[in-house]
Amino acid sequence: MSQLIDQTPEATGAAAPTTHGNFIGGEWCESVTGRTFESVNPADTRDVVGRFQASNAADAAAAIRAADLALPAWRATPAPKRGEILYRFGALMAEHKERLARAMTREMGKVLAEARGDVQEGIDIAFLMAGEGRRMFGDTVPSELPDKWAMSIRQPIGVAGIITPWNFPIAIPCWKMMPALVTGNTVVFKPASDTPHCAVLLVELMHEAGFPAGTVNLVTGSGEDVGLPIVQSPDVPVISFTGNNATGTAIAQAAARRLKRLSLELGGKNGVIVMPDADLELATDGIVWSAFGTTGQRCTACSRVIVHEAVADDLVGRIAERAARLRLGPGLDETTDVGPLINAAALEKVGGYAGVGRAEGRLVIGGGSATDRPGCEHGHFFAPTVFDGIEPMDRLGQEEIFGPILSIIRVPDYDAAIMAANQTRFGLSASIFTRDVNLAFRAMRDLETGIVYVNAGTTGAETHLPFGGWKGTGNGHREAGHAALDTFTEWKAVYVDYSGRLQRAQIDNQPE
Ligand code: NDP
Repeated sequence: MSQLIDQTPEATGAAAPTTHGNFIGGEWCESVTGRTFESVNPADTRDVVGRFQASNAADAAAAIRAADLALPAWRATPAPKRGEILYRFGALMAEHKERLARAMTREMGKVLAEARGDVQEGIDIAFLMAGEGRRMFGDTVPSELPDKWAMSIRQPIGVAGIITPWNFPIAIPCWKMMPALVTGNTVVFKPASDTPHCAVLLVELMHEAGFPAGTVNLVTGSGEDVGLPIVQSPDVPVISFTGNNATGTAIAQAAARRLKRLSLELGGKNGVIVMPDADLELATDGIVWSAFGTTGQRCTACSRVIVHEAVADDLVGRIAERAARLRLGPGLDETTDVGPLINAAALEKVGGYAGVGRAEGRLVIGGGSATDRPGCEHGHFFAPTVFDGIEPMDRLGQEEIFGPILSIIRVPDYDAAIMAANQTRFGLSASIFTRDVNLAFRAMRDLETGIVYVNAGTTGAETHLPFGGWKGTGNGHREAGHAALDTFTEWKAVYVDYSGRLQRAQIDNQPE
């Protein structure tokens, strides 16, 4: 049984529910609207985390101006020196890891171990990108003409608009801001309205690390009032967005009008394939962690198990048994396995999908809200839920739920498994459990996703590899790894002709 947890600021070490400002041009300031909004703890909505500026387009414009003013000096700062500030920021995050994690759990709900992992991803990308300050490789290649030098270099694009969701409130802003900043862009950051406190804590540490005034600007407020003006601004040539497909599509349309560079990281419908020769205990571990970790609110969460019919009954029994034992409660309780959903709308949406699941398949376990459980009375809790007998084209097989609902799809063989896994408009992550090395390699080739796991679940990305998805999950860009630099830099091809005469490419080196 979940113990009652004291979630007051004193007990959690988080800031008292005070009013927080925007951060523009190196100063904390109020919105011109004079209005604020509250962020609340999803595990106990009586607990107000803080009040934040309900900003508008004028605030966004002020932040963009500040970022624009800071741009010339920042892009002229040698990249290794920019990298040193990222190192300091990474070290500060490491120093404050526990405080950040607790604040995140309080505001976003994920259990502490996962919140610590979220902060660690931020630290990892800060250090990785700090190193890019001394790499940022281009190519130096031979010229086709004598006495001529040829190379390519990366250059910053300008002011970067960073728009982020609530589910990784430290990691995702860091994935975006670290590559943007190390390559010499300045940043206007609009965080999700469900997690503005995490954003404030992050920007406080960035300020302390020594990012010069105006290089990092934070504006809180709604997507319509702050996000959209950033996307529409002629002075923000690059946008990096993570969120759902509908928002991403609207942003793509607005950005296209100004031909902006745009990186989109959108939804997922990630499948785990389980073959008859799989280690079923290991598969159960991977599936339960991927499906119910972060209460299913990860873009890489497993929402479909595609299982060979020979082992389906056995596997479903194991998953149900494990799901039944998961302890729901506030994430600040170290014994909790599954925290709340982010807000009331999410609880309602996930409940709606449970209704769809009852019509499309067979309810194995869960199926409803869990606010009647001890410790869950004041939060947005939903029971880990499993539906069997779902068909690949059912709504439960196709639509992103973003909650703890797992669908079981039974298939007769490997080809049917791959077809089911790929039969979705998304393409973020997929995995296969098998001991057959030939099948493993075929799956690595056949799965149409940006991430493929063998003998592990669908979640868990390491920051030095590219992160992102195929098809409707995005628009071809990648975060993390050195691929992240492509979003925030323009390539420049540079030629130096030291022959002292006019040499015409493709003409003077050809036979008469
Ligand atoms: P939303 O798209 O609703 O929100 C994301 C961000 O966009 C928020 O900051 C939001 O502001 C802002 N926003 C909303 N409307 C607009 C607009 N018209 N113009 C500009 N900005 C806007 O995402 P969700 O809250 O639904 O987040 C979950 C989604 O994120 C899931 O679909 C998930 O799969 C996806 N995701 C994808 C990842 C990936 O890498 N592929 C990783 C993590 C999540 P506000 O909060 O104020 O509404």
